[in-house]
Amino acid sequence: MTARHDPNCIFCKIVAGQIPSRKVYEDDDLLAFHDIAPWAPQHVLVIPKEHIESLYDTTPEQHQALLGRMLALAPVLMKQLGVTGGFRVLVNNGPDGRQEVPHLHLHAMGGPRPWAKG
Ligand code: 5GP
Ligand code: ZN
Repeated sequence: MTARHDPNCIFCKIVAGQIPSRKVYEDDDLLAFHDIAPWAPQHVLVIPKEHIESLYDTTPEQHQALLGRMLALAPVLMKQLGVTGGFRVLVNNGPDGRQEVPHLHLHAMGGPRPWAKG
């Protein structure tokens, strides 16, 4: 079973306020903050406060609502940040999915091109 908080996890430390972040949204279950190394003019990460490693650790029965809320938050935040011309969402999972931080996060990236090549 996954612990709700992993003391060695960088995003759990952000949730706990032990590492600073530029927050854009917070509620009981979710936190969103600016990525420290943005790939786009606006790049935010939406994470569950609970330590869930990746989508592999979710089930439709248990996590449908949480995952739906993470995705639904993306356009709200992008609009708040002035992104009106389009944005991308991405969730990397596991080593072959190029996930570097093993705490589930949804990237929302937008702003004027040409950052979004390919
Ligand atoms: P991944 O490759 O796991 O999908 O993406 C992890 C993301 O987390 C990267 O875009 C990286 O820049 C971001 N990141 C890593 N450490 C920190 C941090 O301490 N603070 C913030 N705000 N973002 C981080
Ligand atoms: Zn964590």
